[in-house]
Amino acid sequence: MNVLVLNCGSSSIKYQLLSMDAQPVILAKGIVEKIGLPCGNFTYKAEGRDKIAIEQPIADHSIGMDLILKTLVDPKLGVLRSLNEINAVGHCVAHGGEYFPESVKIDKEAKAKIKALGEIAPLHNPANLKGIETMEQLLPSVPQVAVFDTSFHQTLPKKAYIYGIPYEYYEKYGVRKYGFHGTSHKFVAEKACNLLGWDIRDKKIITCHLGNGASITAIDKGKSVDTSMGFTPVAGLVMGTRAGDLDLGALIYIAQKEKLDLNEINTLVNKKSGVQGISGVSSDFRELTTAWENGNERAQLALDVFAYHVKQYIGAYAAILNGVDLVIFTGGIGENDFYIREAVCENMEFLGIKLDKKINAVTRGADVTLSTPDAAIKVMTITTDEELVIAMETVRLSH
Ligand code: ADP
Repeated sequence: MNVLVLNCGSSSIKYQLLSMDAQPVILAKGIVEKIGLPCGNFTYKAEGRDKIAIEQPIADHSIGMDLILKTLVDPKLGVLRSLNEINAVGHCVAHGGEYFPESVKIDKEAKAKIKALGEIAPLHNPANLKGIETMEQLLPSVPQVAVFDTSFHQTLPKKAYIYGIPYEYYEKYGVRKYGFHGTSHKFVAEKACNLLGWDIRDKKIITCHLGNGASITAIDKGKSVDTSMGFTPVAGLVMGTRAGDLDLGALIYIAQKEKLDLNEINTLVNKKSGVQGISGVSSDFRELTTAWENGNERAQLALDVFAYHVKQYIGAYAAILNGVDLVIFTGGIGENDFYIREAVCENMEFLGIKLDKKINAVTRGADVTLSTPDAAIKVMTITTDEELVIAMETVRLSH
């Protein structure tokens, strides 16, 4: 069975075609970027072949998807004989609100709910829905499945998701903590338990998904009980360009001083903040590390602030869970950046966290135990694979 996995953003489409028969295999993958701009970008990498990149205008999502499908069946470049060989399509959908505690096979009702949730996720859900509707036109007889970034966190207790604002805003507008990256948090926790031969139902786990977007989740007996992102993905940790938690009074003060309107505030906290804002150098941790090595103090400060906030959340979630068995690092930074992992885990011996610094220093992009054998809490890096989860969910639900 072949599954096409799509992640549609407002101006991009990430795609992966997977064969899910025995061991999952990625047949082809790539990205369509800068949709609607004068110069679009299309990349395509088929299994065992070189990556190709084409620059051409891509006016809208349906042209972008058409390009993907045509390439997949192209006699020279393609990996399929015909589009009939695509058996199902899985979509990454950002917001499932309170409607979707699970993935769902797409039907009229599911589409209506995804559309309604566009109110609270205007940057993501309309683009995700566009992807679904375009695929319905291009592959009308193929089942489609939506996998939500929020579903895993639907088990949060009410005391964890209600904000300290008038309750009517929850009732009227659904303003509450939802949390994101659920697919990844669930996947790495389960994968680690499988590797360790543990039953997740006995375990307390903290998962740190540290990428451009970053979030931390407290998992008790396999269920998410708290998570650092909120109503939107701007909450929680300081991120690449997102501010994370901050004093709302400070934001009001800046807005008054700089005479910012709501759009400008939105841009400030989503695009100009985080380690980019602190350092003035970059949102990319590799560039920050290079700048720090060259003596840039604000780059060092940005890395320190980032690690400090991760540490704070681990402490908070250890308290919420009443103990921790396992801390997992994942995402581009969590899997690769040994300096951040070391800085986070430093001086946490009282809690039972002790890194083997030598193993930590050489671990990149692999599933590895980083803690010393005598440490009370295991620390691991686990590679995440959100596309694989979406493909597995799609196989499960598309029959
Ligand atoms: P996204 O949220 O876009 O999926 P990723 O999970 O790909 O993000 O993470 C991107 C981040 O990971 C970037 O800040 C990048 O610098 C960082 N990163 C990737 N590889 C490394 C590496 N080898 N060392 C340090 N940081 C890395």
